[in-house]
Amino acid sequence: MPRDQDRISCRPGNAGDGRLRQFVEIGDTHVGRGVFARKAIRAGEILGEIRGEILHVEPDDPHYCMELPSGRVLEPAPPLRFVNHGCDPNCELFYWFDEGGSLQEDRLWLQTIRPIRAGEELLIDYCWPAAAAIPCRCGALECRGWIVDPEELHLLPPQAQGQGPVRAHGESSLERPSGS
Ligand SMILES: [Zn+2]
Repeated sequence: MPRDQDRISCRPGNAGDGRLRQFVEIGDTHVGRGVFARKAIRAGEILGEIRGEILHVEPDDPHYCMELPSGRVLEPAPPLRFVNHGCDPNCELFYWFDEGGSLQEDRLWLQTIRPIRAGEELLIDYCWPAAAAIPCRCGALECRGWIVDPEELHLLPPQAQGQGPVRAHGESSLERPSGS
């Protein structure tokens, strides 16, 4: 399939992190550091590879880790280490397959899935298993309330599911005022 060949041959993999730095910078968010667009970025733009260290032991802080297609665990290096979770993400991780549909290499890449404004924070859906879920403060209207794989949301304790989104400071609550 020539189209796939084209995609593979024009990927920016060997351009290094210089290309990535044209697109992103680290900044502060209400949940710690995050990654922001330096300029407007179109949908479908490949921003760069998730570089980092492949871990052979249990990480100190597994929240930063990403699973490679092979199942090995990658601890990303900055700046993409700081890409936060959003329940309504504007980016996604992907990896390359060859023509036969086999995994081409054990590497992860980040691309935009919709147009991004200059200054907007880049977000991916972490899709963590329920066992690793923590409350989500992404502030999206569709927020699941937890950083969790949507398929596993039902595995969380009932009282947790009933909590609803944990809203960012300053946002209005959806609860009705009680009495008076
Ligand atoms: Zn959320």
